[in-house]
Amino acid sequence: MRMPAILLALTALLALTVSCAKKETPPAAPAAGPNPLLGAWTTPFETPPFDTLKEEHFRPAFDAGMAAQKKEIEAIVASAEAPTFANTVEALERTGVLLTRTSNVFGALTSANTTDGLQKIEADLAPVLAKHGDDIVLNAALFARIKAVNDQKAHLPLTPEQARLLERTTKQFVRNGAALDEAKKAELRKVNEELAVLSQKFGQNVLAEDNGFSLVLENKDDLAGLPPDVVAGAAEAAKAKGQAGKWVFTLHKPSCIPFFQYSARRDLREKLFKAFISRGANGNAADNRAVASRIAALRVTRANLLGYKTHADYVLDDTMAKTPAAVHKLLDQIWTPALATAKAEAHDLKAMMNKDGVAGELQPWDWWYYAEKLKKAKYDLDDETLRPYFELEAVRQGAFATARKLWGLTFTKRTDIPVYHPDVEVFEVKEADGTHVGILYSDYYPRPSKRGGAWSNALRSQQIRDGKKITPIVYNVGNFTKPTAEKPSLITFEEAQTLFHEFGHALHDLLSNVTYESLSGTNVPRDFVEMPSQIMENWAGDPEVIKTYAKHYKTGEPIPQALIDKIKNAGFFNQGFATVEYMAASYLDMDWHTLTEATERETVAFEDASLKKIGMIPEIVVRYRTPYFQHIFSSGYSAGYYSYIWSEVLDADAFQAFKETSLYDQKTAKSYRENILAKGGSEEPMALYKAFRGREPKVEPLLKRRGFLK
Ligand SMILES: [Zn+2]
Repeated sequence: MRMPAILLALTALLALTVSCAKKETPPAAPAAGPNPLLGAWTTPFETPPFDTLKEEHFRPAFDAGMAAQKKEIEAIVASAEAPTFANTVEALERTGVLLTRTSNVFGALTSANTTDGLQKIEADLAPVLAKHGDDIVLNAALFARIKAVNDQKAHLPLTPEQARLLERTTKQFVRNGAALDEAKKAELRKVNEELAVLSQKFGQNVLAEDNGFSLVLENKDDLAGLPPDVVAGAAEAAKAKGQAGKWVFTLHKPSCIPFFQYSARRDLREKLFKAFISRGANGNAADNRAVASRIAALRVTRANLLGYKTHADYVLDDTMAKTPAAVHKLLDQIWTPALATAKAEAHDLKAMMNKDGVAGELQPWDWWYYAEKLKKAKYDLDDETLRPYFELEAVRQGAFATARKLWGLTFTKRTDIPVYHPDVEVFEVKEADGTHVGILYSDYYPRPSKRGGAWSNALRSQQIRDGKKITPIVYNVGNFTKPTAEKPSLITFEEAQTLFHEFGHALHDLLSNVTYESLSGTNVPRDFVEMPSQIMENWAGDPEVIKTYAKHYKTGEPIPQALIDKIKNAGFFNQGFATVEYMAASYLDMDWHTLTEATERETVAFEDASLKKIGMIPEIVVRYRTPYFQHIFSSGYSAGYYSYIWSEVLDADAFQAFKETSLYDQKTAKSYRENILAKGGSEEPMALYKAFRGREPKVEPLLKRRGFLK
C-alpha cells in the first residue's frame, strides 16, 4: 500500500475535509539549542538529520510551517496584480515548503518508529492541521483569483503539466464547495457535519457488533478439526475474557475465519457464520441499517449541491475511471466468467461435502471448510516449505536486479546518512551512467513502535523548483521476519511479493520527472496508484525471475521447478469465490452511490435487489453486507471499492506488454518509464496508459491470471 503523509502536498492538504472537535493546546515550549527542522540540512543529499532530531522539535516546526504558509497565501491574495497562472496557481503550489518537509519526516516516524510523545503531538495537531487546510480551501478571495485564471485558460500559453495543475487546483476547491453561494455553502457544511457524525457512528457500531458476540465452547468435542494453534488462540481469548478452561471464538476475522476453515462441526460453523453476517442488523443500539441508508441519501444531496447527478459521479470525476458507466463496463467483463468459475467451484465442493456424508446443498458456512480440504488435496503447499528459498536479502537483491535489468538503475549502500532506527538501511539510486536519481531507505523488521503491514512513502518528492531539480527521498517499510543468531531473515513467498510491491511504489516516486510537487510520483488517483506497485509483483512471481533470486539460504541451490509449479497452480485456487465475493460488494457499493434521489431506503431489501440483479449464488455471501461495509460508509472508499480490481486489470495488462516481448524488453521498459513512472500525476492516467500501451487496458490478462480464461 501507499500511505499518504498527513500533509504531503497541496492535493493532500485540500483533501482534508474532516474537522475534529478536540481543543487546541498551546505550542510546546521551544527546545534548547537550534531546531534542525527549522534550519538548512547539511547531511548528504540534504536527507533528514534524524540523528539530531528530537520530539520537541516538531510542534514548533509545524507552527512555524503553518504560519509561513499562511503568510505566503496572504501575499498571493493581497497582490495588486491581476491574477495569472504564475502569481496565483503556481505561487500557491510553491507555498508550505517548511510545513511539507516537517510533515513528511513526522509521518515517517509516527508510522514506523512512534513514541507516546509523538502520538500526543499527532493528536494535538490533527484539529489544528485540519483547520489550517480548511482555511486555505475555503478562502474565497484565493478561490476568486484561481477562478479568474481558470476562466481564461483557453487563451493561456500553458504547458500540459501547467494545464493539469490549474485543472487539479480548481477542481479541488470546487469539490470542497468553494464555488457555491453563501446559502449553499451553509447547506453543504450542514450535510458534511451530519455525514461526519454518521460515518463515525457507523464505524463504532461495527466495532460494538464485532465485540458483542462470542462463541464460547466448553467441550473438547466442539473443537473437532481445529489445528492446535487455533485451539491455543481460542483458549487465550477465553482466558482474556475471564473464562479460563473454555475456548472463545469472536467475529474478528483472525478468530472466525480459521474456525470456518477447519471446524468439523457444521452446526457450530453455521452459528458463528450467521452471527458474522448479521452484524449491524440485530435491532439493537448498534443497528446500522438506517445509518447506512441515511448516509447514502445525504451523499445524493451533497452531490447535487456540488453539481453532480450522483455521489458516484462526484467521486469518480476525480479518478482514472471517471464515470459510473466505465466502472460498470469493467466490472461486467469480469463478473460473468468469475461467476461461471464460482459455480463450478461450488459444484466441486458440494460433491466433496456429499461424499463426506453430509447430504443436501452446500451452504456459505461449508464453503471455507471444504475449500480448505480441497486446497490441501490439490495444491499442498505451505509457507514453511518455501521459506528457506526466500531469504530477505536475496529477495531485495532480486528486486534491485529487476530495476537494473529494466532501467539500468544501480543501488549502492550508504552508511554516512543518518537513520531513525538501527534497522534502517540506506541506498543511493543511480542511473547506469552514474547520475544520482534519489535515496531509498528500507526498514523491514517489526518492532513495537511500528504499525503493522507494509508501505512506501516519500520524505521528499521529486520536483523542479527555480530551475533546479530536487531529487526524491523515498522509504519502504515492512514487518518481515527478523534474522536470529542462527538464521537470516527468511520470508514467505507472499512477503517477497510485498517487498517487490512496495519497491514498485518507491520506483514511481524515484523515477518521477515533473515540475510540480503535487503532481509528482505517486500523487495520482486512487484507482491508478497501485498499478506501478502491483506490476512489480508480476516479476516477483514470474517463474523465470523466481529462479534467479530464490535460492536455498544454506546450500545456494535454486528453488526446484516442482515448487515453482506449485506456486503457480496455487494462484488459481478458489479464485471464483474470491472474485465473486469481492465483486458483489463492488456492485453493491456502486448501487448505493448511483442513487439519484435523496430518499431513504429499506436497507436489506435494497441489498437483496442489488445482489439479485447480478445473479449472486446462494453459496456465497457478499464480502461486506451493507450494515458492516465500513470501506464505503465509514472510511474513504465510497464508490471506490472497485479500485482494487481496476488496478489489477491495469497491472496484468501492462505486464502483458513485457510478456509479449520479453521480461526485460528495453523498448517496453523505456516506454513504461517515460509514459507512466516519469509522469506521476501530471497528465490524465488513461492518457498515460494509452501512451504506454497504445490502447485502453484489456481485462483478458487478469482473467487468465485468475484462471477464468485458458
Ligand atoms: Zn500499494
